[in-house]
Amino acid sequence: MSEQQHMRRQLTTDEYVQGVLRGDRAILGRAITLIESDAPRHATQAQELLQRVLPSTGRSIRVGITGVPGVGKSTLIETLGTRLCERGLRLAVLTVDPSSSLSHGSILGDKTRMERLSRMQNAFIRPSPTGGALGGVTRKTRESILICEAAGFEVILVETVGVGQSEIAVHAMTDCFVLLALAGAGDELQALKKGVVELADLIVITKADGPNRERVLNAKADYMRALRYLTPTTGNWRVPVLVSSAQTGEGIDQIWATIEEYRALAEATGTLLARRQVQTQQWFDALLMEALQRYLYANPQVSERLPQLRQAVVLGQIPVVRAVEEVLQFLQGPLPAFARVDQGDQ
Ligand code: GDP
Repeated sequence: MSEQQHMRRQLTTDEYVQGVLRGDRAILGRAITLIESDAPRHATQAQELLQRVLPSTGRSIRVGITGVPGVGKSTLIETLGTRLCERGLRLAVLTVDPSSSLSHGSILGDKTRMERLSRMQNAFIRPSPTGGALGGVTRKTRESILICEAAGFEVILVETVGVGQSEIAVHAMTDCFVLLALAGAGDELQALKKGVVELADLIVITKADGPNRERVLNAKADYMRALRYLTPTTGNWRVPVLVSSAQTGEGIDQIWATIEEYRALAEATGTLLARRQVQTQQWFDALLMEALQRYLYANPQVSERLPQLRQAVVLGQIPVVRAVEEVLQFLQGPLPAFARVDQGDQ
């Protein structure tokens, strides 16, 4: 069947599964659209698809890339990604950009990005899902990682902006987390304060070219000093600080070599498997809690009584624990058919 014929009608789950597993890009794109859909019937099919491709997932190296707007993320991904594709690796680039939901304008997506990479046969670039809270966006990206792995992508780069909680979310879905930083402008302090440096497995100071190179080298020394006081998240791994320039090409190959080195160490020591297991378990726990919350607030008795109870505890009329117990009493009885995970993305 031609691509166009596929586009015209709904695909069966079998067609999705087979298309994804043979690496059909049109179907992969549609599978991700299915995952991103908030419609309950799409969610059911998306979960069926995920269930069936699950045995073919997990074989990629998942790399998170973060840094403030303008640090050079897309330029680096374009330069590095092109080199990886030229080496024959299959590369998927996904993004988590909560700004696109909050402001209807996306920090990552506004400009024409990664033009050269997007034309490469081995590259698949997918912008951030739009709409919904960060939780919904990250669920969709996590599931997209799995789908891309099932489609045979060996490297998954997940890019995010250095604003809000998105770095933590991307750290929680990747094997290796790369922080891009600028020299000067108090950027080091900012990142340190926000706790992003603690998350990094690798720090790269960008734009090490022209008159800026000297400042970059100074910033590298500053970061290395600061890192001495932090405990590495992966045992035996001292977080390296590299410098790079997309203009001169300095450091680009070294970044990839370091990521591979990290990955090899994490695999050999069992850290990689443990990290992924913890990530999946925490993801499960988080989704379960969200579903429980929705279940709670969707209960009509709860929503009716809750404002009164809130007021009563504030005025000191009912002890807090007692009020909680009263709310829980409303939950006894048969479970209604709401509180679906996909309902939380709106
Ligand atoms: P992003 O917002 O983090 O994706 O940053 P971009 O990749 O869009 O880069 C922001 C600006 O910095 C652009 O004008 C790039 O051309 C420039 N830039 C990116 N990398 C380098 C570099 O290595 N050296 C220099 N001199 N400029 C760079």
